[in-house]
Amino acid sequence: MKDRNFLDTVMEFEQQLESLQQQYSELKQFVAHMVEDHQTLQTENLHLRRRLEELLSQTNDESDKGNNDKPARTLDIGEGYDNLARLYHEGFHVCHVHFGSIRKGEDCLFCLSFLNKQNS
Ligand SMILES: [Zn+2]
Repeated sequence: MKDRNFLDTVMEFEQQLESLQQQYSELKQFVAHMVEDHQTLQTENLHLRRRLEELLSQTNDESDKGNNDKPARTLDIGEGYDNLARLYHEGFHVCHVHFGSIRKGEDCLFCLSFLNKQNS
């Protein structure tokens, strides 16, 4: 192997190493994002499960309570609204567009108009 060729090969190898390092750090960032997303989703899932259990146990309590169907029916609608409003205030979307996902502290116009409609 001539010296010139050897130098070229070394430089080429160095470039490949740099490119690999670049790809590796991009991959690392990607994994970090994935882990973050995964944790967010797990937390969200846990919240939703708890909320669902609460809602289900409330519904069961109500059906245990009673034979007079009509008042319970109107109560349901009010409580449905309260639950949605609470969910919204706890930081979750209740709108059709993003239902159940975390609001990240921002108000959502879809949610607000949906809650307004439910309340009127
Ligand atoms: Zn929303």
